[in-house]
Amino acid sequence: MPPIFKTDKGMKRYYFFLIILLTFSSLRAQTPEEFSIFLDEINGDSLRETVADLQNFETRFCLREGGNKEVAEYIVQRLENYGVNAEIDSFYVQDGHFWLSGDFSSWFYNVKGTLAPAQSSDSIVIIGAHADAIATDANYNLLPLCPGADDNASGVAVMIEMARIIHQFNLLPKHHIHFMAYDAEEIGLVGAYHDAEARVNNQEKVVVMLNNDMVSYQPDDDWKLTFHWYDNAQDISQKAVEVCETYTDITPVIPVGEDNDLRQNSDSYAYDQNGFKTVFAIENTFSAYYHTENDSVQWNNAEFHEHVARYNFAMLFNYGFANLQTLSLDDYASSASVLVYPNPANESATIQLYLPEQTDINTVITDMSGKIVWKYDNKSCAVGIFYIHLDCQNFANGIYFCKIFSNNRNETIKLIINH
Ligand SMILES: [Zn+2]
Repeated sequence: MPPIFKTDKGMKRYYFFLIILLTFSSLRAQTPEEFSIFLDEINGDSLRETVADLQNFETRFCLREGGNKEVAEYIVQRLENYGVNAEIDSFYVQDGHFWLSGDFSSWFYNVKGTLAPAQSSDSIVIIGAHADAIATDANYNLLPLCPGADDNASGVAVMIEMARIIHQFNLLPKHHIHFMAYDAEEIGLVGAYHDAEARVNNQEKVVVMLNNDMVSYQPDDDWKLTFHWYDNAQDISQKAVEVCETYTDITPVIPVGEDNDLRQNSDSYAYDQNGFKTVFAIENTFSAYYHTENDSVQWNNAEFHEHVARYNFAMLFNYGFANLQTLSLDDYASSASVLVYPNPANESATIQLYLPEQTDINTVITDMSGKIVWKYDNKSCAVGIFYIHLDCQNFANGIYFCKIFSNNRNETIKLIINH
């Protein structure tokens, strides 16, 4: 059945784009083409690898010996690799109550990653997911192994993928972006309440909290994502539907009546209860391996997962970078810059830049004294991502400056060579 389904969706998207093109044909920037360049880099395999990494902890049950500190360290490392300033927010809960097995006193480990805006702003956009997991037998006895691939390594993977894409394009947000991984969701949304309450105490201005919990299990022929919504944030769930229809092949579902009761069962509820706007995305066909020892990465639908990540990127971009409705070429030019990797480099390096318009590019590399050691001109480069390959084998160890000149834009980036 997939071909029929895909054709339907494809046609729908085609008409949508056509309408947009006709409406804004004089303002080319308002077509979603430039935006697709970002979305197309979102990768199901990358998501799957993160899920596998998290599954490899064997258990992420928050009350186990030593707790989830190692898990938090892994997530901090991943975020740091993408230029996000990340740290563990550890906290102790005395005499807490676990809905399944009574009282506890324990340390917990949230992860908080922050990306500062290009210009000062007091607003914060949060993308969050719980990193802990649980598995029980049919009688609700806890089991030692809990891979928690769908619940909820899948949500954490989406959060990390957002950091990867933002880093890849060196995107500069308008507001603070916070990347959150919560501990102890499974015993009562403990990590999320801890964070949401701290934000109330600090009088933080949270624009939206995007929650993903169980977002990778779905039959191939029926991609649906449910948005559990909250009374004071219906504008957010409406935007979620719109974004899902525009930028993904997933059919959005807004539950009515008691079908929306599940809104209380994930981290977003802690934010809602503390007065913040939020929306909770979850797979519509519920995982067959929920809270079992079989919730492993092999059941993940990487393509569906990728489209869930596309929805998230569009939401994050809309609230944290630039309004998707009024997006202009300038928004891309100002939010996308130049990237050099790896840096420090050994044998070779890649300079990557996003070109909002066709342009000539002149690249010059100088050493510390200003002496030109490498030079290259590219004529009439097309709109999109542009890559410059650098063979560094003949460069001596040291610090260099890459200077890139294009239409109306000069960029200088420091490059370190370390053979
Ligand atoms: Zn969950």
